[in-house]
Order: sequence, then C-alpha cells, then structure tokens
Amino acid sequence: SKPAPRAPIRQLDDTVINRIAAGEVVERPASAVKELVENALDAGATRIEIAIADGGKTLIRVTDDGCGIDGADLPLALSRHATSKLNDADLLDIRSFGFRGEALPSLGAVGRLSITSRIAGGEASVIVCDGGRLSAVRPAALACGTVVELRDLFHATPARLKFLRSDRAESQAIGDVVKRLAMAEPFVGFTLRDMSGGGEGRVTFRADPETGDLFGALHGRLARVLGSDFAENALRIEAAREGLSLTGYAALPTYSRGSAVAQFLFVNGRPVRDKLLIGALRGAYADFLSRDRHPAAVLNLDCDPQRVDVNVHPAKAEVRFREPGVARGLIVSALRHALAEAGHRASTTVAG
Ligand code: ADP
Ligand code: MG
Repeated sequence: SKPAPRAPIRQLDDTVINRIAAGEVVERPASAVKELVENALDAGATRIEIAIADGGKTLIRVTDDGCGIDGADLPLALSRHATSKLNDADLLDIRSFGFRGEALPSLGAVGRLSITSRIAGGEASVIVCDGGRLSAVRPAALACGTVVELRDLFHATPARLKFLRSDRAESQAIGDVVKRLAMAEPFVGFTLRDMSGGGEGRVTFRADPETGDLFGALHGRLARVLGSDFAENALRIEAAREGLSLTGYAALPTYSRGSAVAQFLFVNGRPVRDKLLIGALRGAYADFLSRDRHPAAVLNLDCDPQRVDVNVHPAKAEVRFREPGVARGLIVSALRHALAEAGHRASTTVAG
C-alpha cells in the first residue's frame, strides 16, 4: 500500500495563528463584547458605552474614558502576546481581567477592527486591522479614552459565521455579558445601545457617585439588573475564613428561579462559571430548594490572587482554587447562616 503523504513541517503565519486563537477566545459576538469591556475596565474606565447592530454581527463599538493607548503602542496592542498587564512571568499574581494579549489580535484577525485612542496629554491616533492586515497609525480626533470598533465579525472566517444564532439571540447573549460585568463593577457606569432590527434599545446602569459604599452600590445595581423586588428581599452576605472573603447578596429561597439566570458569581471581581462555586451555592440551599430550582445570588469571593489560578480556561470563565475545600466551606456556611437567620426572623415575627 501507499505510504501516507508526508508534507514538510512549516511554521504557520501570524494571520493563521491569530485565526486559530480567535476560535478559542471569540466564540460569538458576546465574547468580543466581554473582551472589549474587560479591556476598558482594566484601563480604569468609569463610564463605558457599548453599541451593537445586528446582534453584534455587523457592529460592536466600545467607548471608554480609561487611560488610553499611546499612538506609538497601537501596533503592539494588536500583536499577539503583547500586554501591559503581566509584568514578569508571574502567572500566579493576576489582578487584571486580561493578561494574555490575545483579544485584540484575535478580533483583528476575524473582523474589521479599528482602535482610536488618546492618553492624557497626548494626541489621538487610530489604527485599523482588517482580517489580520494592519494599517499605519494615523492621527485622529478623540477627547479622551479609547473607542474600539469591530465590524463584520467573522467575515474572514465564514465557517464560524454560519454557527451564529439569530440577531435576537446574539443580542441577548451580549446583554447578559454586560449585566454580568455591570454587576461585577457597580461603581462603573454602563450603557448598552442595541441598534439591531432598525430600532434602538438602550439599557443603562448608572454609576452612583454618591456612595463610596460597596454594598450600597451593589444593592442599587442588583435592583436595576434583577428587579427591586429581588433586591429588597436579598440577604446581605459578608463572611471570611482563612484569608478568603465572601461578599454580596443572596435571595430568599422563594426568589429562586427555574434556571441559573440570576446567579452572578465572581472571583476577585472576575465573572466565573465555576463548578465548585455553583455546587457550593446549590449545596447551601439544598435544604430549602427542590432540585429543579436555582438560587438567585450575587457573590464575590476575594482572595490573594496567588491562591487561585485563573489561567485554566481560554475565556477565563473557570478558575482553580488551591484549597477548594475552604472556598466551598465558606460559601456553604455563610449562606446557610444567613438563610437560617432570615428563617428565624420570619418565624419570630409571625410568633410575635
Ligand atoms: P490583554 O487584555 O490580555 O492585555 P488585549 O489584546 O485585550 O490583551 O489588549 C492588549 C493591550 O492593549 C492591553 O494590555 C492594553 O495595554 C491595551 N488596551 C486594550 N484595550 C484598551 C483600552 N480600552 N484602554 C487602554 N488600553 C487598552
Ligand atoms: Mg484584554
């Protein structure tokens, strides 16, 4: 029989490498929104506006008032593995959302990306990256911060384009991402303008400048995202154990849902969908809820970044704890305690 054909081994070119990477980082328009908004948050933005059209398929634009990018650094921002967020190779001390330097080059490889930016005391500049081809840096007009515009996502990878769902479904996924990040950062103002289908929908999560108080800001945002009824009946959670601390709100079992839509879980402010945390939350409510109900809660687990590895998932949605038992124990005991107290209050009110 014929021997298997043996092609010579060669190095893939950058455009192909970036498209492959994009397959992991950017699954759909909502993942692009997530990466761009996280960049704005990492840049210290206090106000972020997201505009989308056609479910994000033809347009995603994220405008922020963060620190900006120097014109001379724009080509670097679009090159792979270039980041301002990881100082040395210490992957165990990550405090920013980003750290891999993959999002912008990936987006520039699968769509038409333009970045306009201005640092304090500098001039505004713009760079374009279309299907992996980089333009020169040119002068632009912008008062401050950064505007990243992504048009025609996946036009360079038609196979991926075919997997996208309806504009409506993609818009909704984007709305969920924005809600999650708005809940993670209650001091930052967010606006989502959805121009899909000819009309314009607008959702605003205003930053409350009055309070520097985290619980106050979080409670306000909770009311905006999940409804005031939920917020008024949420139990405040504040507990710590062995260097881990848990803050947030958890709803009474009567406010549970038929799905996990009202679960917002964060580790050091990073939105996660982590089995351990979801399991701990479920465990805490086990005595109060049937299997098909999902507790509603907004919880942030803070710990020394050294004790949690965030570099285990391309979209950074999963994390790995060094002492998973401590994290689980803290969540279960804090929530059970709050639920038991609320139950006790309710029964003494009835009795009294
Ligand atoms: P990462 O976020 O992992 O560093 P990205 O590809 O998302 O990688 O971004 C590359 C770099 O571009 C960032 O490290 C940052 O320096 C800069 N950057 C990206 N977006 C912004 C923004 N909105 N404001 C300021 N700088 C930004
Ligand atoms: Mg990033």
